[in-house]
Amino acid sequence: MANEYLHSPLDPYKFCAAGKALSFDLVLENMERVQAALCDTEGQLKVDLQFSYGTQRTLEVQGRLQGQVTLECQRCLQPVRQELESEFLWGLVTSDEAAVKLPRTHEPVFIENERLQLGPVLEDEVLLALPLVAYHPQGECKQYEIEQPALEETLVATPPNNPFSALADLKHSLKKEQ
Ligand SMILES: [Zn+2]
Repeated sequence: MANEYLHSPLDPYKFCAAGKALSFDLVLENMERVQAALCDTEGQLKVDLQFSYGTQRTLEVQGRLQGQVTLECQRCLQPVRQELESEFLWGLVTSDEAAVKLPRTHEPVFIENERLQLGPVLEDEVLLALPLVAYHPQGECKQYEIEQPALEETLVATPPNNPFSALADLKHSLKKEQ
């Protein structure tokens, strides 16, 4: 099954030469570092990987992660489901020098003893794909029900450093004084 690729290191030279494509599920529960960042580790992410030799014989892996994760809403601290989708392009390298020479489009991924350990690299990829902060959409967040939604909306809608916002604040305070 799919998870054989996660448990035993694979031969990237063979996979690239064969132009191998892999599709499997990443079980969230099995990724310790990802687990720490999530509210709920039920479920899995779908992974697609395409191995190939790029120009200049670069070992390439084009990949995609997709699925849903449960994070903590930073407003109400309740769980919120978030869609996760990320695409990446790895350049497999064996040294720092080779990593520096990679085209900027490629993210360097190190192989050791001619083997690629997919598990930890994919876990890094999931961590990178997680949003830094998560919020419920307006109307679904508990915090909105408690606070005055109109006030919250104006705060969100007015970007900082907007010259007009200072004016708006002034008008607002003048109104209050009347
Ligand atoms: Zn919320």
